[in-house]
Amino acid sequence: MNALVNGAAAQRCADWPALAGAVRGCIACPELAATRRTVVAGTAPAGAALLLIGEAPGAAEDASGVPFVGRSGALLDRLLAEVGLDRAAVAVANVVKCRPPGNRRPTPAEVQRCRPWLTRQLELVEPVLTVLLGGTALSWVFGRPAQVGRMRGRPHVVDGRRYLASYHPSAAIRFGPNGAPLASLRSDLALAAQLLTALSS
Ligand code: SF4
Repeated sequence: MNALVNGAAAQRCADWPALAGAVRGCIACPELAATRRTVVAGTAPAGAALLLIGEAPGAAEDASGVPFVGRSGALLDRLLAEVGLDRAAVAVANVVKCRPPGNRRPTPAEVQRCRPWLTRQLELVEPVLTVLLGGTALSWVFGRPAQVGRMRGRPHVVDGRRYLASYHPSAAIRFGPNGAPLASLRSDLALAAQLLTALSS
Protein backbone atom coordinates (compact mmCIF):
# COMPACT_ATOMS: atom_id res chain seq x y z
CA MET A 1 0.00 0.00 0.00
CA ASN A 2 1.38 3.43 -0.87
CA ALA A 3 0.32 7.06 -0.84
CA LEU A 4 -1.64 6.59 -4.05
CA VAL A 5 -3.68 3.76 -2.55
CA ASN A 6 -4.12 5.69 0.70
CA GLY A 7 -5.27 8.68 -1.36
CA ALA A 8 -8.04 6.70 -3.00
CA ALA A 9 -9.08 5.16 0.32
CA ALA A 10 -9.10 8.52 2.08
CA GLN A 11 -11.12 10.20 -0.63
CA ARG A 12 -13.79 7.51 -0.34
CA CYS A 13 -14.36 8.50 3.32
CA ALA A 14 -17.48 10.64 3.53
CA ASP A 15 -16.97 11.74 7.13
CA TRP A 16 -14.49 11.62 10.01
CA PRO A 17 -15.76 8.38 11.59
CA ALA A 18 -15.49 6.63 8.23
CA LEU A 19 -11.94 7.87 7.86
CA ALA A 20 -11.06 6.83 11.41
CA GLY A 21 -12.31 3.35 10.63
CA ALA A 22 -10.43 3.14 7.33
CA VAL A 23 -7.11 4.42 8.66
CA ARG A 24 -7.11 1.80 11.43
CA GLY A 25 -6.50 -0.82 8.78
CA CYS A 26 -3.63 1.02 7.13
CA ILE A 27 -0.36 -0.91 6.93
CA ALA A 28 1.42 1.33 4.43
CA CYS A 29 4.43 1.86 6.73
CA PRO A 30 5.75 -1.62 7.53
CA GLU A 31 7.83 -0.65 10.55
CA LEU A 32 5.12 1.47 12.14
CA ALA A 33 2.38 -1.06 11.42
CA ALA A 34 4.49 -3.78 13.06
CA THR A 35 5.32 -1.83 16.22
CA ARG A 36 2.22 0.28 16.92
CA ARG A 37 -0.43 -0.69 19.43
CA THR A 38 -3.15 1.51 17.93
CA VAL A 39 -3.66 3.82 14.98
CA VAL A 40 -4.39 7.28 16.37
CA ALA A 41 -6.78 8.78 13.87
CA GLY A 42 -7.49 11.98 15.81
CA THR A 43 -10.66 13.61 17.06
CA ALA A 44 -13.08 16.03 15.42
CA PRO A 45 -16.08 17.31 17.39
CA ALA A 46 -18.97 18.35 15.16
CA GLY A 47 -18.61 21.95 14.00
CA ALA A 48 -15.04 22.33 15.25
CA ALA A 49 -13.67 25.74 14.19
CA LEU A 50 -10.12 25.04 15.36
CA LEU A 51 -7.89 22.18 14.26
CA LEU A 52 -4.57 21.41 15.94
CA ILE A 53 -2.01 19.38 14.02
CA GLY A 54 0.92 17.71 15.76
CA GLU A 55 3.64 15.37 14.53
CA ALA A 56 2.90 11.79 15.59
CA PRO A 57 1.45 9.79 18.46
CA GLY A 58 3.70 9.24 21.47
CA ALA A 59 3.64 6.36 23.92
CA ALA A 60 0.53 7.54 25.80
CA GLU A 61 -1.35 8.19 22.56
CA ASP A 62 -0.30 4.82 21.14
CA ALA A 63 -1.61 3.11 24.27
CA SER A 64 -4.90 4.99 24.43
CA GLY A 65 -5.65 5.68 20.76
CA VAL A 66 -6.33 9.32 21.67
CA PRO A 67 -4.16 12.22 20.44
CA PHE A 68 -2.44 14.62 22.84
CA VAL A 69 -2.83 12.78 26.11
CA GLY A 70 -0.01 12.30 28.64
CA ARG A 71 2.17 15.25 29.65
CA SER A 72 1.94 17.07 26.32
CA GLY A 73 -1.81 16.69 26.29
CA ALA A 74 -2.19 17.92 29.86
CA LEU A 75 -0.13 21.01 29.05
CA LEU A 76 -2.10 21.64 25.89
CA ASP A 77 -5.41 21.30 27.76
CA ARG A 78 -4.23 23.77 30.41
CA LEU A 79 -3.04 26.35 27.88
CA LEU A 80 -6.24 26.04 25.84
CA ALA A 81 -8.31 26.58 28.98
CA GLU A 82 -6.21 29.62 29.91
CA VAL A 83 -7.15 31.33 26.63
CA GLY A 84 -10.80 30.31 26.84
CA LEU A 85 -10.71 27.43 24.35
CA ASP A 86 -12.43 24.17 25.23
CA ARG A 87 -10.37 21.14 24.20
CA ALA A 88 -13.61 19.18 23.80
CA ALA A 89 -14.61 21.53 20.96
CA VAL A 90 -11.23 21.40 19.19
CA ALA A 91 -10.30 18.96 16.43
CA VAL A 92 -6.89 17.30 16.78
CA ALA A 93 -4.84 15.26 14.34
CA ASN A 94 -1.24 14.30 13.65
CA VAL A 95 0.85 14.28 10.48
CA VAL A 96 1.32 10.52 10.89
CA LYS A 97 -1.21 8.33 12.67
CA CYS A 98 1.13 5.63 14.01
CA ARG A 99 3.82 5.97 16.65
CA PRO A 100 7.38 5.90 15.31
CA PRO A 101 9.45 3.52 17.48
CA GLY A 102 11.30 5.28 20.28
CA ASN A 103 9.48 8.51 19.42
CA ARG A 104 11.84 9.15 16.52
CA ARG A 105 10.75 11.65 13.89
CA PRO A 106 8.64 10.18 11.12
CA THR A 107 10.66 9.64 7.96
CA PRO A 108 9.84 11.61 4.79
CA ALA A 109 8.47 8.38 3.27
CA GLU A 110 6.14 7.82 6.23
CA VAL A 111 4.93 11.41 6.05
CA GLN A 112 4.32 11.00 2.33
CA ARG A 113 2.36 7.75 2.76
CA CYS A 114 0.20 9.23 5.51
CA ARG A 115 -0.38 12.52 3.71
CA PRO A 116 -3.71 11.57 2.07
CA TRP A 117 -5.31 10.81 5.44
CA LEU A 118 -4.56 14.25 6.89
CA THR A 119 -5.42 15.94 3.60
CA ARG A 120 -8.85 14.35 3.75
CA GLN A 121 -9.24 15.23 7.43
CA LEU A 122 -8.66 18.90 6.58
CA GLU A 123 -11.31 18.67 3.87
CA LEU A 124 -13.78 17.02 6.23
CA VAL A 125 -13.33 19.52 9.07
CA GLU A 126 -12.71 22.67 7.00
CA PRO A 127 -11.62 24.51 10.13
CA VAL A 128 -11.77 28.28 10.41
CA LEU A 129 -8.19 28.13 11.70
CA THR A 130 -5.49 25.47 12.02
CA VAL A 131 -2.62 25.67 14.48
CA LEU A 132 0.49 23.76 13.43
CA LEU A 133 2.35 22.41 16.46
CA GLY A 134 6.01 21.89 15.62
CA GLY A 135 8.26 21.79 12.59
CA THR A 136 6.93 18.56 11.09
CA ALA A 137 3.40 19.98 10.90
CA LEU A 138 4.74 23.24 9.45
CA SER A 139 6.71 21.44 6.77
CA TRP A 140 3.66 19.37 5.93
CA VAL A 141 1.70 22.52 5.06
CA PHE A 142 4.44 24.66 3.56
CA GLY A 143 6.07 21.89 1.55
CA ARG A 144 9.57 22.74 2.75
CA PRO A 145 11.51 22.72 6.02
CA ALA A 146 10.18 25.60 8.11
CA GLN A 147 11.37 26.96 11.46
CA VAL A 148 8.70 27.64 14.04
CA GLY A 149 10.59 30.67 15.35
CA ARG A 150 10.44 32.35 11.96
CA MET A 151 6.85 31.47 11.13
CA ARG A 152 5.01 31.93 14.40
CA GLY A 153 3.17 35.04 15.62
CA ARG A 154 1.20 35.82 12.46
CA PRO A 155 -1.41 34.08 10.32
CA HIS A 156 -0.51 32.39 7.04
CA VAL A 157 -2.88 31.49 4.23
CA VAL A 158 -2.05 28.39 2.18
CA ASP A 159 -4.43 27.08 -0.48
CA GLY A 160 -7.18 29.25 0.96
CA ARG A 161 -6.82 27.93 4.53
CA ARG A 162 -5.66 29.97 7.55
CA TYR A 163 -2.81 28.69 9.70
CA LEU A 164 -0.84 29.71 12.77
CA ALA A 165 2.52 28.14 13.60
CA SER A 166 3.71 27.31 17.11
CA TYR A 167 5.86 24.95 19.12
CA HIS A 168 4.83 21.43 19.95
CA PRO A 169 3.88 21.04 23.64
CA SER A 170 6.69 18.48 24.02
CA ALA A 171 9.20 21.22 23.13
CA ALA A 172 7.60 23.49 25.72
CA ILE A 173 8.04 20.74 28.32
CA ARG A 174 11.61 20.02 27.21
CA PHE A 175 12.72 23.64 27.53
CA GLY A 176 10.99 24.04 30.91
CA PRO A 177 8.68 26.59 32.49
CA ASN A 178 11.00 29.52 31.74
CA GLY A 179 11.82 28.46 28.19
CA ALA A 180 10.82 30.40 25.10
CA PRO A 181 8.70 27.58 23.58
CA LEU A 182 6.21 27.58 26.47
CA ALA A 183 5.79 31.37 26.41
CA SER A 184 5.42 31.26 22.62
CA LEU A 185 2.89 28.43 22.67
CA ARG A 186 0.82 30.28 25.28
CA SER A 187 0.93 33.47 23.24
CA ASP A 188 0.16 31.68 19.95
CA LEU A 189 -2.90 29.95 21.43
CA ALA A 190 -4.09 33.32 22.75
CA LEU A 191 -3.71 34.70 19.22
CA ALA A 192 -5.66 31.71 17.89
CA ALA A 193 -8.51 32.46 20.31
CA GLN A 194 -8.52 36.12 19.24
CA LEU A 195 -8.54 35.22 15.56
CA LEU A 196 -11.35 32.71 16.02
CA THR A 197 -13.45 35.35 17.77
CA ALA A 198 -12.74 37.91 15.06
CA LEU A 199 -13.41 35.49 12.23
CA SER A 200 -16.66 34.25 13.77
CA SER A 201 -18.15 37.70 14.38
S1 SF4 B 1 1.63 6.22 9.62
FE1 SF4 B 1 -0.14 6.60 8.28
S2 SF4 B 1 0.41 5.71 6.28
FE2 SF4 B 1 1.83 4.85 7.84
S3 SF4 B 1 0.84 2.93 8.49
FE3 SF4 B 1 0.18 4.52 9.92
S4 SF4 B 1 -1.78 5.28 9.07
FE4 SF4 B 1 -0.73 4.15 7.43
